[in-house]
Amino acid sequence: MRALIIGRFQPFHLGHLRLIEFAAREADSIIIGIGSSQESNTRENPFSAAERRRMIESSLAEITFEIFEIPDINNNEIWVSHVKEIIPEFDSVYTNAELERHLFKEAGCKVRETPFFDRGNYSGTEIRRRILAGEVWEDLVPEGTLKVMEEIKGEARIRELG
Ligand code: ATP
Ligand code: MG
Repeated sequence: MRALIIGRFQPFHLGHLRLIEFAAREADSIIIGIGSSQESNTRENPFSAAERRRMIESSLAEITFEIFEIPDINNNEIWVSHVKEIIPEFDSVYTNAELERHLFKEAGCKVRETPFFDRGNYSGTEIRRRILAGEVWEDLVPEGTLKVMEEIKGEARIRELG
């Protein structure tokens, strides 16, 4: 069984990791879609798709996965077919995002609703906010993300953009 998980991963954090581990308990392999892949160096999307891919690849062990980049199309009506053109066949979409759930269901895809894990802390917005505020954020991401953040000077980038 192949599960699809789509996110922006700005940056890849422990909520994403828990979500992928949740799906991996039911699926044989995970297809990870990096959304808004054309974006980088903005407040909401500081990291490029290549950088986000490195964070994910450095953080996942013992999980079979493949990563695909999904640029924005800004058209909900054709978004699912746009995603399907990029990624291989999948069995279920794992998501807790309402619009994504609605669009995939409408397109006839199987959707598995997932829980949020410590959403108050495990959130891209919260991590970017903490970095800007000079607060501790390092405990909210896996080791792999931390390593890549250091290599690409991710903290400094977020501060410059903010
Ligand atoms: P941002 O605040 O930048 O939007 P985010 O934390 O919401 O970041 P996304 O990359 O937008 O992360 O989300 C990717 C997917 O991961 C979405 O389906 C989202 O609901 C899910 N997700 C994000 N955080 C968690 C979490 N703490 N627990 C479970 N799922 C999560
Ligand atoms: Mg989000």
